[in-house]
Amino acid sequence: MSAPEFREIARGTFVRRHTELELNIGLVVGSERALVIDTRSTTARGEDLAAAVREITPLEQVVVNTHAHYDHCFGNAAFRDSQIYAHVGAAESLQRTAEHQRSQVVEHLHRTERPELAQTYLDTEVVLPFYLVEDEVTPVDLGDRTAYLLFGGRAHTDHDLVVAAPDVDVVFFGDLIEQGADPAMDDSFPLEWGPTLQTLLEHPHVNGATACVPGHGEVVDLAFVRTQQGVLTALATELRAALATGVSDVDGLVAKTKGLGLQDATLRDAAVRALETRSSHAGVDAAR
Ligand SMILES: [Zn+2]
Repeated sequence: MSAPEFREIARGTFVRRHTELELNIGLVVGSERALVIDTRSTTARGEDLAAAVREITPLEQVVVNTHAHYDHCFGNAAFRDSQIYAHVGAAESLQRTAEHQRSQVVEHLHRTERPELAQTYLDTEVVLPFYLVEDEVTPVDLGDRTAYLLFGGRAHTDHDLVVAAPDVDVVFFGDLIEQGADPAMDDSFPLEWGPTLQTLLEHPHVNGATACVPGHGEVVDLAFVRTQQGVLTALATELRAALATGVSDVDGLVAKTKGLGLQDATLRDAAVRALETRSSHAGVDAAR
């Protein structure tokens, strides 16, 4: 297996695809700073990434964590001298869940007989992001160009950031979009994900994108993103309708959401999360 390499998908804008989980890391290089989008899943992998970035550019590295799942931010220790941006909810979530996430991964790696890789997770120091943003749009000045951190609402988590480089029509969607597998629902807000994505797709920094980078899988076009947004919006609509008619169990909700093209396991996770998050969703509706 050849080592991962940064591929330039637009001027000064790169994607590095990794064998672990088909993870994509983004890089946006300006005249003064370079923005690294996500940090991989361990300190060792983060260090490999930081070295790969230095081969592209000697400039100061600035980092954003798209969200607090381990595969996107457990490499932060390798970037501890950098400004690390994230949504305020990501820092809270990472503080609360990091040790649980670590133990889940370590347990899985031992179960699948990969003790050496498990040890690299145990050797990883979790470093929290500390440039915390809450606004819908946060510019990150890179010198001759600006990248934008966009927050559209709750979706894959309650704190996903999307990163836009509108000067080259590239958008990094984090796990709001997934190619090659279903969107991951475990921590999601399935009643809101589709509408959140719709809001983001209407944003002027997003609606002209020619390259859309998912958190995992192949780089896709806007039509792919719109299709996935349509599926997620249909899922939200079906779940809301079922909940409104009194369906209140996982099997019942799964039965109502078949036919959207999502795997049964995905529908089950979505149903569980719809039931867990429905009251907070009602609150959101009432506030609007
Ligand atoms: Zn994720």
